[in-house]
Amino acid sequence: MTKKSQFELHDSRLGTTDDHGHRVFLFPEEVKGIWRSRRKVFYWFLIIIYLVLPWIYINGEQLILLNIPAREFSFFTYKFYAHNAPILIFIILGFLFFIGFITSIFGRVWCGWACPQTVFIDALFLRIEALVEGKPRQRKKLQEAPWNREKIVKKTIKWILFLVLSLHISHTFLGYFVGTHNLIGISLQNPSENFTLFTIMLIITGIIIADFGWFREQFCIIACPYGRMQSVIMDENSMAILYDEKRGEPRRQPGQKPSEHGDCINCYACVKACPTGIDIRRGVQLECIACTNCIDACDDIMVKTNRPKGLIRYDTQSNIEGRGRHIFSFRNIAYLIVLIGLLIGFIFSVSMSQGITTTVLRGPGTPFRVQSDTKTLNHFQIVLEQSGDIKTHNVKFAIEGVDKENYEIKMQRNPFEFTTTHKRQNVFIVFNNSILEKGSRKFTFIITDLDTNKVIKKEAVLVGPTK
Ligand code: SF4
Ligand code: SF4
Repeated sequence: MTKKSQFELHDSRLGTTDDHGHRVFLFPEEVKGIWRSRRKVFYWFLIIIYLVLPWIYINGEQLILLNIPAREFSFFTYKFYAHNAPILIFIILGFLFFIGFITSIFGRVWCGWACPQTVFIDALFLRIEALVEGKPRQRKKLQEAPWNREKIVKKTIKWILFLVLSLHISHTFLGYFVGTHNLIGISLQNPSENFTLFTIMLIITGIIIADFGWFREQFCIIACPYGRMQSVIMDENSMAILYDEKRGEPRRQPGQKPSEHGDCINCYACVKACPTGIDIRRGVQLECIACTNCIDACDDIMVKTNRPKGLIRYDTQSNIEGRGRHIFSFRNIAYLIVLIGLLIGFIFSVSMSQGITTTVLRGPGTPFRVQSDTKTLNHFQIVLEQSGDIKTHNVKFAIEGVDKENYEIKMQRNPFEFTTTHKRQNVFIVFNNSILEKGSRKFTFIITDLDTNKVIKKEAVLVGPTK
């Protein structure tokens, strides 16, 4: 019987658990290669954007600011408010469908290239770990060693550095919500003065250090919802990291000559480099985060054995089985159509939100108040909103559909100035009961922006006694 390699994974359990279901910590081998270099550049590009973006101000305004208490969201100097919910919904849905569309064509590029979990762990946390504890084999040895002086010192230094890094990441994150200039002032104050914010910062820091420093690949394997959706989003025409079985098999067994086996020499370099502890030769797996480590590891072996690179490569299942690539599948076209629809909806919502928008509401309390035997009063609240650049608008209310002599609009001022993002304007209408038919009368509010001459018409109903 052929003796199994120590790196051969168990047939029916994860590489990150032992016989008793306890966690097995992974120490993936470091790889060098074209994909690793590309990812490194891209990771640093993303990290720099994340760290620098909240420090960019234009005309005193932070480039991206999500001020939740004020319900004000600023993106590249364009402002959204809570009443622009449709625009925000289009942005969120657009992002989700964009990720779905990209995944259906390029596979899990999000996981391997842009997920904060992968980016921060690979580019920063693992670098710190390597700096303090050494190469993967030394780290494994240290992990298994009893608690001696060396282990205590190295682990303490590593976790202190992790803490400093996590604090930096969490403060930057908060800078997107409270404003970076504001955050400097807050950070210099006593924590008790901003206790809620201080608690939020501690929670975020705790999550970052626990996840990026300790939980790591476990999150991708057992907790990430996006990972669970792969089988729905991807199909045989989606790009993935794949092992070319036709080329690789039969893989080498001990004592075989090169002419007796395929290109795979069963060296396990791909398995040893995998951060989620899987063997890609077993086919597409939920645990694969498309990090490309196994491509570089295997390409290196192919060069050394004088075989062409690409035994493990980015490809589609359909192409690797000789049926060609079909990028424009029904699923991808469906994603594209939905994305175009969302883009149109977004553009339409933005154009509709320019200038003033209004909503007519009935005032709180009773629907009408009897003023005399012949007159009744109705109370309305007209909600005025504006987005983008907040300007001063002179606004005038009038009504249409009722003869002038039969009603009177009672307001503190009309026209009046509207200078904020949101205003509730009380409007009282006193009218002759004679205009009512069975206790009600339809009419139209005419709301005119005197600065732009924009006229908004809103239907409403006057109500009063039935006789
Ligand atoms: S690295 Fe390549 S050659 Fe080595 S085991 Fe993996 S697939 Fe086979
Ligand atoms: S199988 Fe390859 S691409 Fe997938 S997670 Fe492991 S090393 Fe990364």
